Amino acid sequence: MGRIAVYPGSFDPITNGHVDIIARCLEIFDGVIVAIADNAQKKSLFTINERVKMAKLALQDMPDVVVESFSGLLVDYVKKTNATVILRGLRATSDFEYEFQMAHMNKNLNRKLDTLFMMTGKDYFFISSRTVKEVAGLGGDVNGLVPGIVAEYLEKKLKIRPSK
Ligand code: ADP
Repeated sequence: MGRIAVYPGSFDPITNGHVDIIARCLEIFDGVIVAIADNAQKKSLFTINERVKMAKLALQDMPDVVVESFSGLLVDYVKKTNATVILRGLRATSDFEYEFQMAHMNKNLNRKLDTLFMMTGKDYFFISSRTVKEVAGLGGDVNGLVPGIVAEYLEKKLKIRPSK
């Protein structure tokens, strides 16, 4: 068995920024588990099942990628996998403080686990799930920012929402 990384997040929804990180991680690791957090406290546009489905479809051409949902502590979930590393993406300095804190919190919870950061791709630094939802909600074009299947899901989801 090779080296596996767990890439955790909300993925509400998965964007091309996430896909780029996963593709580049596969150059370093033998496999990536995309672990989608089922966190009731965090309000999401898409249900956990929708988020998993979209990610699976978006990543179906990448063999060594598995998409799963998890709830509870990330370190507990990672322990149950064969992963050795937590993977996170970094955009501008604004990501740094939160990521720095989480990496150390997770290290504090499990000394054997390390978090590895991959810098955002130059074409993706401005993409976040939040801004993609905002733009799509206002009728803007998100093609090129998210996988095609996600653009379809966004359109469907935002169309059936009652307008004010
Ligand atoms: P969370 O809600 O846990 O921050 P996200 O789904 O927003 O989860 O993001 C998961 C990870 O991917 C985070 O480490 C985030 O910084 C990173 N990420 C999100 N968008 C991008 C992007 N465009 N480029 C690089 N990394 C990104």
